[in-house]
Amino acid sequence: MSGIEVPVTAVRLGQEEEQLVLSVLRSGHLAQGPMVERLEAQFRELTGTAHAVAVDNGTTALVAAFQAVGLQPGDEVVTSPFTFVATVNAALEAGAIVRFADIGLDDFALSPSLVEGCITGRTRALVPVHLYGQAADMTALAPLAARHGLAVVEDAAQAHGATIGGRPVGSFGVGCFSLYATKNVTTGEGGMITTDDDGLADRLRLLRNQGMRARYEYELAGHNYRMTDLQAAVGIPQMARLDELTERRRANAAALTEGLADLDGLVVPREMAGRRHVYHQYTVRVTADAPLDRDALAKALAGAGVGSGVYYPRAVYDYDCYRGHPGVVVDHCPGAEAAAREVLSLPVHPHLTSVDVERVIAAVRRAFGA
Ligand SMILES: *Cc1c(COP(=O)(O)O)cnc(C)c1O
Repeated sequence: MSGIEVPVTAVRLGQEEEQLVLSVLRSGHLAQGPMVERLEAQFRELTGTAHAVAVDNGTTALVAAFQAVGLQPGDEVVTSPFTFVATVNAALEAGAIVRFADIGLDDFALSPSLVEGCITGRTRALVPVHLYGQAADMTALAPLAARHGLAVVEDAAQAHGATIGGRPVGSFGVGCFSLYATKNVTTGEGGMITTDDDGLADRLRLLRNQGMRARYEYELAGHNYRMTDLQAAVGIPQMARLDELTERRRANAAALTEGLADLDGLVVPREMAGRRHVYHQYTVRVTADAPLDRDALAKALAGAGVGSGVYYPRAVYDYDCYRGHPGVVVDHCPGAEAAAREVLSLPVHPHLTSVDVERVIAAVRRAFGA
């Protein structure tokens, strides 16, 4: 990455994180304990749910959610073909068969009108992905799932604090968040599951801890999905600052849009009506009307010291390991395939200066000959 002066992600942790981690180190209590409980309380507040259950990463959060809603081998889930591979891998690990409903190019998320066609007699769960920090259309998807008796497992890995209709993601069903290094809140590795369902939360806590309720009393075949107090201590101060960090992302996004919206062949991200976008990524589309293609734009930006990223270069089913997989139903999704050709994410993280943002805008405009 030499020569990149404005990177697409940057992690900056401060004194508060250092102090809290140090206090855990000095306490000698490193495994799941009071810090994990504090982080869980912050996620209950963020999502307005009755429960939050911390786990060791976002993929685990999805696996545990699928197990807790009672997915059985051969049960089907419907999800987005335009997502990080973890969404699919977690469903497969839970024994499910994965079908894909195509996305809309406005929000890069499940298109409600296409979901119905993927529902069969074996479908048990709908898995919307709130991609790039914007909620999928839960206003339509949640009632649709309810009509068909489907569990809703939200992949909210990129969407801490996003809302739709004033309601936070992670509160529509079972919310699965990631706290990986590049996410809007990080613990290095980590995950969080949110739910209002008491029974489900109870199963999640059992699953997380070898199925054990009281010491050596096992109620189900579980696993070790626990987060450490060291990790939680890194996340707590960021959660306290999340509103401020998100507002900086939103201000950077607004400035980028202001500087780029007039370019022919460049489609800037759209905040859909009634949704609060938290801009995990600021993702433009480079269409056929542009003077250069997406990859050429990325190269031109790199030449100007500006980082960018392609999330994601292919539809998630478009790999040999899934084409031959008995758990994956590969169906051509033209929306996802167009997005994979056209998307480019530009720096929007909260540590950009206004000079950085101007530099990103200038570099894109120059590449477009504008
Ligand atoms: C990051 C991510 C995950 C997985 O989270 P990890 O913490 O990396 O395991 C799942 N889904 C999406 C959409 C993600 O971006």
